[in-house]
Amino acid sequence: MADPAAYAPSAAGNPPPTPSERPRHAADELPWQRAGLPYFSCNFDLRQRFGRRVQKVSVDAGFTCPNVDGSVAIGGCTFCDNRSYSPSRRLPRTSIRGQIDESIQRMRLRYRKCRDYLAYFQPATNTYAPVERLRTVYREALSHPQVVGLVIGTRPDCVPDDVLALIEEFTQPAPPTHSSTLPSNPTNPTLQRPYVAVEYGMQSMHDRSLDWMNRGHHHAAMIDAVERSRGRGFEIGAHVMLGLPNETRDDMLATAREIGRLGIEAVKIHNLYCVKGTPLADQVARGEVRLMGRNEYVQTLVDFIEQLPPTMIVDRISGDAPPDYFLGPSWCLDKPSVRTAVLAEFARRQTRQGSAWNKALA
Ligand code: SF4
Repeated sequence: MADPAAYAPSAAGNPPPTPSERPRHAADELPWQRAGLPYFSCNFDLRQRFGRRVQKVSVDAGFTCPNVDGSVAIGGCTFCDNRSYSPSRRLPRTSIRGQIDESIQRMRLRYRKCRDYLAYFQPATNTYAPVERLRTVYREALSHPQVVGLVIGTRPDCVPDDVLALIEEFTQPAPPTHSSTLPSNPTNPTLQRPYVAVEYGMQSMHDRSLDWMNRGHHHAAMIDAVERSRGRGFEIGAHVMLGLPNETRDDMLATAREIGRLGIEAVKIHNLYCVKGTPLADQVARGEVRLMGRNEYVQTLVDFIEQLPPTMIVDRISGDAPPDYFLGPSWCLDKPSVRTAVLAEFARRQTRQGSAWNKALA
């Protein structure tokens, strides 16, 4: 039976779906909706694709960032602890395969049954190198027998066409020796290929916010990167932050609608939080920037997710940093309780992802 929550008006004041928009029976619903989830989580998506649990393992290829080395700017983004991205310190701590082995070893206790991993190129800008170097590190990650895909975090102004063509190459079926470890599903041939995703740091659609964070690019760069990435066989994701100074709730929801309009596959969301030694830490200490409280974040996040298309993967709903570096807000460190509060808010509202999505605007 269709979930009655699908028919509820949103707290944002948008009308409930018209009868023609409503799922008429369970077969019209998406699998995550049939599973009773309030949003299309990344874990649910990976389980569907692979038929089993798949975890991301972070990989540091030793890249720096054009916003740190002076190519675009010096000093990096206001919130980013980029001291370790200094070009002189960017030697990878060990080989890519060695890092993957270490991470799998560490995760073994927590995820005992997990056998398959995505290599997540996470720190710094992971397309900021000559194509041949990128090819070497991506290939090394995919050569690990337990790695079934790549996730590449980068800036939207740092993906020239030759880099996008390279990433596209990695979406092709793997050589026979490795493809035996990839999921196979005769009804869906794409599952015999490595999973590849590119995650762009969009942060906000508002240029004044991008200027505040010393981002070094405007939203036009995101639009351009998405247009040039589309149709290349990899998943396109956006990383956004809620609670940026001088952004109202309406500004944040405008970013949600813009993400829907961009037609990308995934979004990763977290609140603005503060790490030691950053310009943001100084601004917070001087009282110039206020960080969101938990309840305010949960309300805004649920509003935000309601605006997203129901087919978009919600990759993450909170963020934090290692306690040694982290300054606040302290509630971010308790991710399970943030998740519980988000689920409770969806249940209270009887809404879910897409409840306030306006297909006509997409
Ligand atoms: S957040 Fe990303 S783009 Fe900004 S300085 Fe840090 S690594 Fe560079």
